Amino acid sequence: MNTQPYRSLERNHWFKLILGASFQHLPAVESLALIWSLAGVDCVDTCADPAVVQAVERGFSQAQQLAMDWGREWHRPWVMVSLNDGEDPHFRKAYFPSALCPPTCPRPCIPVCPVQAIDRAGVSAARCYGCGRCQPVCPLGLIEFATTQADPVQLSELLAPCGVDALEIHTHVGNGAGFTRLWTGLGDWLTGLKLISISFPDEPGLWEHLQAISQLIQQSTLPVRAKTHIIWQTDGIPMSGDQGASRAKASIYLAKKVLSWDLPGFVQLAGGTNQHSATLARAEHLAIAGIAYGSYARKLSQEFFTDLDAGMTPSQLAQAVQTAGALVAHTKEEQHNGQCSHVGG
Ligand code: SF4
Ligand code: SF4
Repeated sequence: MNTQPYRSLERNHWFKLILGASFQHLPAVESLALIWSLAGVDCVDTCADPAVVQAVERGFSQAQQLAMDWGREWHRPWVMVSLNDGEDPHFRKAYFPSALCPPTCPRPCIPVCPVQAIDRAGVSAARCYGCGRCQPVCPLGLIEFATTQADPVQLSELLAPCGVDALEIHTHVGNGAGFTRLWTGLGDWLTGLKLISISFPDEPGLWEHLQAISQLIQQSTLPVRAKTHIIWQTDGIPMSGDQGASRAKASIYLAKKVLSWDLPGFVQLAGGTNQHSATLARAEHLAIAGIAYGSYARKLSQEFFTDLDAGMTPSQLAQAVQTAGALVAHTKEEQHNGQCSHVGG
């Protein structure tokens, strides 16, 4: 078993790539898993769908082979799948009736989509990850969202043979009953996991909500190691890939709050994280275990394969790995000098 991710967590330089709970475009998932595992990430967080998990594993297999060819070390990152305990924008898909689009519309929805999910025919559900950028630009207000919630019992049966390492649950204040229902429904599948991550935005009543979740986890039948490997993911600005330092601050502000609550486990940044996050966290002496990057990281890579279906040339792949590796190295280096992050447990 690869224990590198455990060490990264305990040494405060955990790096997670978020592919997105709704992002199901398999060729892109495979390419991103290939690039970022070669870049040295600890974990890849993806959609709770066996086909998507298999695409991640295909990316890993290619990476392992390439690493051997290149004569370099390679560690298989952990695979984390994401679920929600209620309605959540991470689990939605945009759609619009393309027949109603006037021929004269300049189609501002197409270029605004970061994953090329929109064309004249409508929205590709496999590519859309629910970021919401397209909705406000439609002059006719045609774009709407469909939200999905999976059945946990069915899902745990489907995911059991997939070799998933970790689970993330997206939660909101007020969804306590939904969280308990999901947790109970996942049953024994949870006991085989190495890590549980709880992801949440900043909302009034958050302390009480997280306390209740923490108690539920600690009283559960999870193995001790999984109970102590809980990540509290501070989702500063959910699904924001914007590059400004001000965007990165929301997650840092939330992390400061959560760290002061002394919950058992690790605290990790997400939501609005970008090239400024590690430096800002270090300047604030934040005792975080690491950082997760979503749309910022995906955009960095997708510049090297503009056509998501076509894959990459060897030279594009080498450049993509180099760029991804620079973000991983920067994040790990900045976090390396942080304080001990494991609070309680
Ligand atoms: S802009 Fe965002 S919500 Fe709209 S189609 Fe693209 S990924 Fe989906
Ligand atoms: S902006 Fe609205 S009306 Fe125009 S193509 Fe997109 S969905 Fe259709």
